Amino acid sequence: MTDILVYALHHEGAINKNSLGAVSEGARLAGELGGACHALVLGARDALPDDLVATLGAYGAERVYRAEGPDGLAQPVVDAMARVMRAGGHGYALFGGGLLGFEIGAGLAARLDAGVCMEVTAVRVEDGALVAERPILQDSQVASVHYRSSVGVIIGRLNAFEASEQAGATAEIEDVEVEFEPHSLQATMVTRGEQRGADVNIEDADILVAGGRGLGKAEGFEQLEALAGALGGAVAATRAVVDAGWYAYAAQIGQTGKTVAPKLYLAAGISGAIQHKVGMQGSENIVAINKDANAPIFEFSDLGIVGDLNKIVPRLTEAVRARRA
Ligand SMILES: Cc1cc2nc3c(=O)[nH]c(=O)nc-3n(C[C@H](O)[C@H](O)[C@H](O)COP(=O)(O)OP(=O)(O)OC[C@H]3O[C@@H](n4cnc5c(N)ncnc54)[C@H](O)[C@@H]3O)c2cc1C
Repeated sequence: MTDILVYALHHEGAINKNSLGAVSEGARLAGELGGACHALVLGARDALPDDLVATLGAYGAERVYRAEGPDGLAQPVVDAMARVMRAGGHGYALFGGGLLGFEIGAGLAARLDAGVCMEVTAVRVEDGALVAERPILQDSQVASVHYRSSVGVIIGRLNAFEASEQAGATAEIEDVEVEFEPHSLQATMVTRGEQRGADVNIEDADILVAGGRGLGKAEGFEQLEALAGALGGAVAATRAVVDAGWYAYAAQIGQTGKTVAPKLYLAAGISGAIQHKVGMQGSENIVAINKDANAPIFEFSDLGIVGDLNKIVPRLTEAVRARRA
């Protein structure tokens, strides 16, 4: 069973970039295994026209399973992938990363009694089977994960797999009917919106203004964006606020996010947990604003300001603007 099934996320008439990367990676691996790479898309029928679906072929999918169902939710995709994989005998499921991929992959592994490996940065073929590589111990080592189960689930880190397009190639489309589990239809999509900070490239910034739970709410980031704008830097975030949906995962610093070493790291409303520290401790200058004088972040800051960030950050922004002018 060497065929690979990739979940292809779509939004507003386009297939997600990480999903395209996973399809290309799936095609490469399936080629080495002597199998095929297939993709699965799920959504409203009119959101998935033939030409959109067939473009997955240009990235390496030989066949695309198109299922009609609720869009953007994990459990219906678990149902659809489990149905296709059971019928098609696929040996592996591959995801390009992102929060939805984590949720679907974990649910699928439970459903199929499969082994699962997350945060995968590379996959190779060894003795006719896939081996996933996953950084561990704060990314200082790489673990090679072998699958003992008959089905393996592989969930990549964001941007781990590169999308490569072969112009002109298209995939055959197979429409599948999925009977959803009653619990899979319990959740509904209320609204979808742009996530603040999703397009930032924080690894390249010399100055980072990072925000944590001390900001109180998503809108608290507006003042950090103003300060970062005045300083010519970018905005970063802790996992606590990313998990709360206040800021994009792309901006997360730490053990399960990015590692950065800017010239200036200004932390506002961040306690300084070890999992955050490992991602920013290499910064040249660390400045922390926290209302708790005993916050751990002051133990590794070059400059500490004890006080309410809501008062300090706007005044700092004004001072920087005045100086620059
Ligand atoms: C396996 C694992 C992996 C993890 N990976 C990461 C990771 O990659 N990145 C990461 O960041 N975390 C990670 N965490 C979570 C980490 O342990 C902390 O929970 C998280 O970093 C805390 O985020 P925070 O500092 O925003 O929130 P909190 O710890 O809640 O701190 C908020 C701070 O804001 C201060 N504050 C409140 N109001 C104000 C105000 N008005 N003005 C000034 N200060 C104020 C408070 O005094 C407090 O110190 C991970 C955890 C685990 C278990």
